[in-house]
Amino acid sequence: MRDARYRAPNRAVLVVVWLFAFVMAHAGAALADGAELKPTPNAPRVSIQAARVNGTTVNVSGRVEAPAERGDLQFDYAAPPPVDSAPLQFEYQLDNFDKGWIAAGSRRTAFYTNIPPGTYTFRVRAAGPTEGQPAPAALALFLQPRFYETRPFLAGSVLVFVLLLVSGYRWRLRVLRDLQADLMRLVRERTDQLEDANRKLAEMSYVDAVTDVSNRRSFEEVLTMEWRRSWRTKSRLSLLMVDVDAFKAFNDALGHRAGDDCLRVVAAVIRDCVLRATDTVARYGGEEFAVVLPDTSGPGAETLAERVRAAIEAQNIRHPGVDGGRLTVSIGVATAVGTESVEPAWLVRVADEALYQAKRDGRNAVRVFRDPPA
Ligand code: GH3
Ligand code: MG
Ligand code: MG
Repeated sequence: MRDARYRAPNRAVLVVVWLFAFVMAHAGAALADGAELKPTPNAPRVSIQAARVNGTTVNVSGRVEAPAERGDLQFDYAAPPPVDSAPLQFEYQLDNFDKGWIAAGSRRTAFYTNIPPGTYTFRVRAAGPTEGQPAPAALALFLQPRFYETRPFLAGSVLVFVLLLVSGYRWRLRVLRDLQADLMRLVRERTDQLEDANRKLAEMSYVDAVTDVSNRRSFEEVLTMEWRRSWRTKSRLSLLMVDVDAFKAFNDALGHRAGDDCLRVVAAVIRDCVLRATDTVARYGGEEFAVVLPDTSGPGAETLAERVRAAIEAQNIRHPGVDGGRLTVSIGVATAVGTESVEPAWLVRVADEALYQAKRDGRNAVRVFRDPPA
């Protein structure tokens, strides 16, 4: 059973309640919105009164252009007092430098230092919501760079630096090259001098100082070498030992200096008689000469010896100490094929034997050693 005291609400009452709730809800919302919104002050228009760049006052009626120098900026601004007499707050911004608006409070001057050259706009406005407010006061600035801060100057400097670097490098390279060339020249000169000295030394150690033919040392080397070659190639090696006859008497009669001159003539004559480039004329010692004749037979050597003897005689060198009155030589000839068991000195010994045979036979003669090596 339904409770008799309970009565269903009247439809009209429900509508009134609903309407009341609807109106109240909207009224509440409107009330809430109104609480969040501060009453917008009637912001006055701010104006820039004066500006100074590096302490110098500039004209603020148009775009400011001034040398950047230290980059010290000062802006003075002002605004008529607000109607509600609340203290006026400002905010400003230097475009291209500041990241956002800077609250200045009630201060009416903005300072900047060390602002680099460039283009800027200084803006200032009353702080607070901006909607419906006057546009900020603005002042465009161009801070000119110093000449050495300009791009052409910087580009030129880089270019000059690079050019200096390149020319410095090339100059250094040229200096080093010149130095190297000088060193090379010096080394070449010294090398030439050294080679010259060595050549002279070698010549001195192989050439007889008086007669200019090979010396004894050179003779020994040549003889040893040719003896081995003769043994290797089975060719005959001949040797002439040429000795000036009665040379002691020559010296005694004409003096030692004349004796030296005579030795030079004898050496030159022997050299003239020897035809092959492989033949060697040497001063064996004192007034004795040796001629090494590679690849030369006994008869060939004997012929050459005879030619030498006759050529000296034909020189007709005066010799007061002998019967004929002329300088003569005696020559011993030896020929052999080199062998391992026999030393080259053997050839010298037997040629000397032949020479002394010529002396014994009366001098101004050629004698040949005919026995083969033992
Ligand atoms: P022989 O006919 O037997 O060879 O008699 P010789 O006088 O030529 O021989 P000897 O060995 O008795 O004397 C050689 C002389 O040669 C002795 C020296 O006065 C002379 N003589 C040796 N070497 C030189 C030299 O370099 N210069 C000069 N001027 N004389 C020299
Ligand atoms: Mg002699
Ligand atoms: Mg002698």
